[in-house]
Amino acid sequence: MSKALINTFAKKLIAWHGVSGRSGLPWQNNRDPYAVWVSEIMLQQTQVATVLERYPRFMKRFPTVKKLAVADIDGVLAEWAGLGYYSRARNLHACAQAVVTDFAGKFPSDPLLLEQLKGIGRSTAGAIAAFAFHERAPILDANVKRILARLFAIEGAIQDKVVNDRLWALAKELLPTSPQDMPVYTQALMDFGATWCTARKPVCLTGEKKCPFIKECQANLSDQVLLLPQKTVKAKSPEFDCNMLLIRSGNSVLLQKRPSKAIWGSLWSLPESAWTPKAPADAGVHMSVKALFALTLPGEKSSAHMKLCKALEKIEEIKHVFTHRRLWMHIWQTSSVKELQFANPDLKWVSLSQLGRYGLPQPIKILLQGLSLARGDDLEN
Ligand code: SF4
Repeated sequence: MSKALINTFAKKLIAWHGVSGRSGLPWQNNRDPYAVWVSEIMLQQTQVATVLERYPRFMKRFPTVKKLAVADIDGVLAEWAGLGYYSRARNLHACAQAVVTDFAGKFPSDPLLLEQLKGIGRSTAGAIAAFAFHERAPILDANVKRILARLFAIEGAIQDKVVNDRLWALAKELLPTSPQDMPVYTQALMDFGATWCTARKPVCLTGEKKCPFIKECQANLSDQVLLLPQKTVKAKSPEFDCNMLLIRSGNSVLLQKRPSKAIWGSLWSLPESAWTPKAPADAGVHMSVKALFALTLPGEKSSAHMKLCKALEKIEEIKHVFTHRRLWMHIWQTSSVKELQFANPDLKWVSLSQLGRYGLPQPIKILLQGLSLARGDDLEN
């Protein structure tokens, strides 16, 4: 391992940032740990362009950790709608409450304490500590893992614990000595991975720009740039079917609040059947109202209700791709002459014009907005 590179890395990277780093992002140069934390969580699985649009909106609606802590979770989820990975929004809410209750509304500066808060992993804790408190805490997100694996030609799958531990040790060793340099250094690391040492087109292979580490980068010297970091081969994602009940009554649709621990946890969606491994052909083409009610509203003893419903019509088949699975949603529509009443408190009739008040999974939101627009409803946001 090159000692010279270890000793000069931070200085060179900070110099690189002065010329080629990103600037002017709304969450940069901010020492408010709340603002840093929200931006870090939002950036985790969302592209910068989208965060640029949504971050100011979120901060306007929830300007402080106290405001977020006392907000209604449905309002937080509605504000998060479209950003995906909704556990982030639920964790933000729970974490805000913990900061208010356990830390008197002030984020701790110690990364070890930050890491104990819901939704804050080791790397995010390092970023918050570095940006807001100038702590000498390393970060190690996917971009940083790639940079380090290439610079030091670290072989072995980065998911492996031994490799991961080695990368953390290295990330710590490379930190600048001065705490004052931590914000710019951390930002530089993020920017270098996102814009120069990218996964598919690192600048050393395009010849467009000269990487400041070109002479020391072990992957470049050994012609292994695109081979590092090594990853374990992913198995093909499993596929599932589920039937969904879209029942309308006048201007309203029946929605169901999803369990908090499920996919799309705590969001409002259509009543749905259990997910089953994808059938080779659609077995439910001739679904009856009775069968669908039994599948999607179990325990509701709804034989009387069913008589008030029209025959089912299959109106959509939506494929949704999650990180580790694919779901085929078969949407069955019926309408009832009145708003049927159910025992389950998680079922609720919602006016199409008021959907904006509810956090909905993106494909369901698009589907229902399509219905609203077809009716000419004025949608709330
Ligand atoms: S030489 Fe290429 S692979 Fe190495 S750090 Fe620079 S951009 Fe990344």
